[in-house]
Amino acid sequence: MKALIIGGGIAGPAAAMALRRAGIDATVYEARPSGAEGAGVFLTLGSNGIDALRAIGADTEVVSAGFPTPEIVVYSGTGKRLGVTRVSGTAGSGPVSHTLQRAGLYGALRDEARRRGVPFVHGKRLTAAEETPDEVRALFADGSEATGDLLIGCDGIHSAVRRLIDPTAPAPAYAGLLGLGGYTRGVPVDVEPGSYHMIFGKRGFFGYALAPGGDVWWFANVPRPDEPARHETEAIGAEEWRARLVRMFADDAGPAARLVRASQEILPAGPLHTVPRLPLWHRHRMIVIGDAAHAPSPSSGQGASLSLEDAVELAKCLRDRPGIEEAFSAYEALRRPRVERIVRQAARINNSKAAGPVGRVVRDALMPLVLKLTADGKQLRRTYDHRTDWDAPAPAATPAR
Ligand SMILES: Cc1cc2nc3c(=O)[nH]c(=O)nc-3n(C[C@H](O)[C@H](O)[C@H](O)COP(=O)(O)OP(=O)(O)OC[C@H]3O[C@@H](n4cnc5c(N)ncnc54)[C@H](O)[C@@H]3O)c2cc1C
Repeated sequence: MKALIIGGGIAGPAAAMALRRAGIDATVYEARPSGAEGAGVFLTLGSNGIDALRAIGADTEVVSAGFPTPEIVVYSGTGKRLGVTRVSGTAGSGPVSHTLQRAGLYGALRDEARRRGVPFVHGKRLTAAEETPDEVRALFADGSEATGDLLIGCDGIHSAVRRLIDPTAPAPAYAGLLGLGGYTRGVPVDVEPGSYHMIFGKRGFFGYALAPGGDVWWFANVPRPDEPARHETEAIGAEEWRARLVRMFADDAGPAARLVRASQEILPAGPLHTVPRLPLWHRHRMIVIGDAAHAPSPSSGQGASLSLEDAVELAKCLRDRPGIEEAFSAYEALRRPRVERIVRQAARINNSKAAGPVGRVVRDALMPLVLKLTADGKQLRRTYDHRTDWDAPAPAATPAR
């Protein structure tokens, strides 16, 4: 079998590696001309995502590109410590969540996939696909095409494959927040290296982690009820964002305003989107995985990890179930309940970041209790303790519930 993988971000290279391990040829077609240019700031890969890579022996490079961040200390804008939330597997049970630059993650996955013989073709933006009973043909913007037995859309939140599978598929929903971030060198912060702190400020949300070298990696979520047009956010330069964020965080306790003021690098802002529920994940020889199928709000810290789990589980289904369509159905039955539960949880966190004045008071009053109750709760364990077992056979799809 030969798989065409559209998108060389996170799910794409992981899917290609897992498929090769399952004896299926895979080529990655990526729209970007090369590398991970413009890939964004940094993200946290959960213990469950690292475990999915470990299942195919591909975790080492990725883990060494980041630093461990097993928990987050949460503050209100008044400086009150609201609590600590664990964002990693139960201690001693497996990998620890790591924070790493997005470009570093993309690069580590691509390099590892290439080492295993996966071909990457850059500058290939998929625009259309045609299916016959025997094959699927991908058509690219540069006029070229490629054929295979199946096509896997790993093309992210604004997926083209999603619309090819179902032209009526819902568009990604705006999450009510703009996201941006940067790196600050030479500003001391009174926290342990590797610790991650987040502040529910009066007017915006701020997160920062102290990297082992002493740099502070930070991000900000700016509430904005209506989705701005693309040209509007693009027109705001780094210096204008610096000024706006310094004003936004000026009245909050903590180092947010200080870190932004001194930041050497402020990366472009953009509206955050989610794909809460996509009715159709697959049709005939085409399927979507990762953000293309189900994008939780970035507030979940789980989008990348779920994409990696998807990649490995899909390869297992194609390895173990007879026929492409049965494999796709088995995959969907296995994955949909888990990813949609996490998408729902993420929406709740997202809303608390965009709370109004009354919501803020309620949130800050209740959050210590919520964090205490959930600190070692079932939901967190179900998310972060999740294990991907390469050797366990993929189950058949159960009849629709
Ligand atoms: C601000 C922000 C912060 C986040 N923080 C976290 C976090 O801390 N933890 C976490 O787990 N997740 C986080 N996420 C979510 C995470 O980035 C995504 O869930 C993850 O990148 C999804 O991986 P993917 O491979 O499905 O898509 P992507 O990583 O988006 O990769 C898609 C790839 O497809 C390519 N492509 C797109 N269209 C085409 C086409 N037509 N033809 C060919 N190629 C195409 C793109 O160029 C890209 O390389 C965050 C997201 C944002 C926006």
